[in-house]
Amino acid sequence: MAGNWKMYKTPRETAAFFDSFNHLAENITNCDIVIFPPAISLTTAVAVTHATHIQIGGQNLYPGKDGAFTGETSGEMFRSAGATWVLVGHSERRHVVAHETDAEVLKKTQAALTYGLTPIVCMGEKQEEHKNGKADEVLIKQFAGGVAGLTEEQFSQIVLAYEPVWAIGTGLVATPEIAENAHKLIRAEAEKRFGQEAAQAVRILYGGSVKPDNVEGLMHESDLDGVLVGGASLDPDSFIKIVMAA
Ligand code: PEP
Repeated sequence: MAGNWKMYKTPRETAAFFDSFNHLAENITNCDIVIFPPAISLTTAVAVTHATHIQIGGQNLYPGKDGAFTGETSGEMFRSAGATWVLVGHSERRHVVAHETDAEVLKKTQAALTYGLTPIVCMGEKQEEHKNGKADEVLIKQFAGGVAGLTEEQFSQIVLAYEPVWAIGTGLVATPEIAENAHKLIRAEAEKRFGQEAAQAVRILYGGSVKPDNVEGLMHESDLDGVLVGGASLDPDSFIKIVMAA
């Protein structure tokens, strides 16, 4: 159960969130709970959650250890700051802020694993692709150009997320049926490339306008292993209701 805070919450606001959320989450141990704060608030998040089972991740990384890359943060830097997860290939990075390609998504996924971070690799179709019945084609292409380039060992260490772009931040959540079909397709691609065991084992999250009142229907689907939540993860009371659906 993952919360992507995007470009929200200063260090002070981050501390205030966990002041409340840590207590709400203290008895929930049957799932991973991961929060992805903005980089500037990451060390605060790590510090205030160190005595809990809540895990912290970066929202993006630059492949490579260090170097002359102004404004970027490496996997090693995230790891040494206490992060254990990282988002890779979020649609806002693919389509809005950085025009990331599938090849870059693969490189970042490999870099995450090199530095001991668990990547959540996101994929999903845009609105016009959804309307034109091209969702499957897009997912197959993103899988083939991205995570299909991993070794079997690397693939066993990642988490995938189906995030239809038309559902992100729009309030237009995918129906459980749409999500389940996409997850089945991604699992089938995983099976073709990595075999049945690996495909069954990989966790696939759904993301896109998940809220406390729609999460249960989604979580009932057999191929849906968790959710990646943006807006509704910013408020402790709302996010804990979502986490409880696990
Ligand atoms: C996201 O940022 O990955 C996301 C799913 O956002 P939201 O829940 O706000 O649609």
